[in-house]
Amino acid sequence: MKSVAIVGGGIMGVTVAYRLSQQGFKVTVYERSPHLGGLTAYMDYDGLRIDRFYHTILSSDLSMQTLIEESGVADKRHFTSTKQGFYDKGQIYPFSTPVDFLQFPPLNPFQRFRLGLQIIYAQTESDWKKMDVVPVEDWLVKVSGRGVYEKVWKPLLRAKFDTISGDVPATYIWSRLRRMMGTRKGVTSKEMMCYLENGYYTVVEALVAKAEAKSAVFHVNAPIEQILIEGGQAVGVRVGGTDHRYDAVVSTLASPVLAGLLPGAPASFTQSLGKQEYLGVICPLLILRKRLLPFYVLNITDESIPFTAVVETTNLIDPKHVKGYHLVYLPKYIAPDNPMAEWSDEQIKTEWMKYFRQMFPNYDEKDIVEFEVQRARYVEPIRPMNTLDDIPTIQTPVKQLYMGNTVMIYPDLGNGEAATRYAEKVVAQVIADAPQWVHQSVGVS
Ligand SMILES: Cc1cc2nc3c(=O)[nH]c(=O)nc-3n(C[C@H](O)[C@H](O)[C@H](O)COP(=O)(O)OP(=O)(O)OC[C@H]3O[C@@H](n4cnc5c(N)ncnc54)[C@H](O)[C@@H]3O)c2cc1C
Repeated sequence: MKSVAIVGGGIMGVTVAYRLSQQGFKVTVYERSPHLGGLTAYMDYDGLRIDRFYHTILSSDLSMQTLIEESGVADKRHFTSTKQGFYDKGQIYPFSTPVDFLQFPPLNPFQRFRLGLQIIYAQTESDWKKMDVVPVEDWLVKVSGRGVYEKVWKPLLRAKFDTISGDVPATYIWSRLRRMMGTRKGVTSKEMMCYLENGYYTVVEALVAKAEAKSAVFHVNAPIEQILIEGGQAVGVRVGGTDHRYDAVVSTLASPVLAGLLPGAPASFTQSLGKQEYLGVICPLLILRKRLLPFYVLNITDESIPFTAVVETTNLIDPKHVKGYHLVYLPKYIAPDNPMAEWSDEQIKTEWMKYFRQMFPNYDEKDIVEFEVQRARYVEPIRPMNTLDDIPTIQTPVKQLYMGNTVMIYPDLGNGEAATRYAEKVVAQVIADAPQWVHQSVGVS
């Protein structure tokens, strides 16, 4: 039986583990944190499991839907149509249906027409490589016009890219529009999203159980210190100062994190991994006694507000599945040099609450029962224009070392669907190469 160490127990690592164990590989997963799940992990609150970061699965997320069904948790899945809104100059506007769209006050009728044109244009354009060399602002202004760009697109770009959107290629919005339109059903154009009872972790847990039944082993609190390389070939991992040998190693870590674990790899490879930049995220979660808004997401156009959206996931999740609480996330994606990364939780709470009060002066703060700051450093890879050649490949320059991460899913966006779809590609490569592997026989744990 061929043995494989998988480094990183996020949704990508867990999917690779599940699939390889089904194919007869002896799989061992090493996860640094106390829980599996990575960005899709949860926090405990009042006997509940609540997603650390808001997570929805779209009806068109076919890879995720398949995993949910195969892992036996489809009965925990609930589809709901959700609404979104915009917060502009102190006013809240719905922005979900064609009627909302036609009446959206911040835009004049001609601007609304151009916005509609942009959405249709994105659906018909299939050559994403052409868009990889066009700045996103140029593409949007060309079709939508400057007014729509300033009112709609710029706030959305700021929400996802903080200050660095100047380098972002048009591919980003193209990909996002295609993903979001994939969730709309029929003439009502209602968004269909789904959630799992007890959070996204429900599917992670079920995949882990299936993999364990095929003798996969999952270690948490197990940060890999080094990937062992001998004669240009990965031969195992070092954890807790002990070396464990495997036939192959699959990394699902963010590129700069992987770069730090490969002292024996070619310098050109580790340097190229190390220079990949990522946005991080600061994302307070508010647990409320009363509903705040009727929207799943409220996009914020006002740049003085530090968070860029209000995401009330209990407009998707039935509150009865979270003991009647209402869950609100106030995210802010941060560029690598944003000093907010150093802010304490208390500082974030003070600043965020100042603007929360400004936006919702009538919300009684006694109904906020928890304000929990969640953060992550490696969230959204930054892919500047015309840098496709810098994207790493699944087979690395180190023999029997494979990698998969959200840098590589481009032009897809960083989400669970694209991560699991990419995991299938990693698995296919491992299966194809395994017959030629040089076998490592000792010390598999
Ligand atoms: C605020 C927010 C909202 C999101 N919303 C959605 C959504 O609605 N829908 C959706 O589909 N996606 C969403 N996503 C994106 C989604 O969470 C990610 O794309 C996906 O979880 C990436 O999975 P991954 O396994 O590639 O990476 P990760 O989850 O980052 O996993 C990598 C793992 O490696 C571990 N690790 C790091 N170093 C080591 C080491 N030395 N040794 C061992 N382990 C190590 C980490 O602890 C982590 O668990 C959202 C993300 C955020 C932050």
